[in-house]
Amino acid sequence: MNGDFSSLPVGKIVCVGRNYADHAKELNNAIPAEPILFMKAPNALVSLEEPFAVPMGRGSCHFETELAILVGERLTSASVSEAKKAIVGIGIALDLTLRDVQDKLKGMGLPWEKAKAFDGSCPLSEFVSYSGDLQNIDLKLERNGRVVQDGNTRDMIFPTLELLSEISEHFTLVPGDVVLTGTPAGVGPLSPGDTLTVLLGDALKVNTSVIY
Ligand code: ZN
Repeated sequence: MNGDFSSLPVGKIVCVGRNYADHAKELNNAIPAEPILFMKAPNALVSLEEPFAVPMGRGSCHFETELAILVGERLTSASVSEAKKAIVGIGIALDLTLRDVQDKLKGMGLPWEKAKAFDGSCPLSEFVSYSGDLQNIDLKLERNGRVVQDGNTRDMIFPTLELLSEISEHFTLVPGDVVLTGTPAGVGPLSPGDTLTVLLGDALKVNTSVIY
């Protein structure tokens, strides 16, 4: 990981659903046999370091705190070691989800984009270079002073590098693309006025809030 990513364009955001067993369980979902992939477009990105808005009048909007990976090399059908070499930074993201809308779409067997890929649905931190173990990073979210998510990347069902390799079998990843790696348990609704502290191990700590 070389950390030199200031000139990368903003690409697509590839996300994985149900990558932590405790989160799959809290939403009464089965443990997947292969990664459940979906995407957000660049219109989803906003800075996590700035106060951000959530959609109003579309039911509950849940936070999902996730390790974000910045891709720095083109990956098609990549091996795990190729995936490792292509990571240029890590960050933390909120995969905002209109849960009521998603439940309705899931019930009808329809795609999730309206619930997952709306404008501003991916508040994202800066990226930092990281040379430690990707599968031993604490992920924590405090909402209004109370810890609501407290997980560790060791609990991923599909570890980060396997996930990048698997994604690249389906969608070529290019420099500037971001991969969100799933959320641990504890997801819940956000409300305007909430104050949030988001932690990624010792690498990042972001204080932010939800605006009206
Ligand atoms: Zn998610």
